[in-house]
Amino acid sequence: MGRRRKRRKVIPKKIVKIPTVFECPRCSAKTLSITIKKKDEYRASAVITCGTCGLIDDEDFTDIPAIYQPVDVYAKFIDLFNSGKAKIKERGLEESSGEEGS
Ligand SMILES: [Zn+2]
Repeated sequence: MGRRRKRRKVIPKKIVKIPTVFECPRCSAKTLSITIKKKDEYRASAVITCGTCGLIDDEDFTDIPAIYQPVDVYAKFIDLFNSGKAKIKERGLEESSGEEGS
């Protein structure tokens, strides 16, 4: 009896989404992610969050051209940040009972 080879067809997932992670201007960790949401054909909004220091900026880029790439948003954010105009918020750090974050 021949061995039956279980051939599972593994279709490699094509990940189109490029990880849009940049260096955070505040804590300089490379965990600054920029999420762009398209509102319609022409306008979009972007939210900037840092996974390390909890920085959030969801006010400065609520109305950007839909053609903007995360890198464009990042460049503008750096400008704002450096001029002290960025509306940065802190992520509400949950002070749960000694739960270790990874
Ligand atoms: Zn940060």
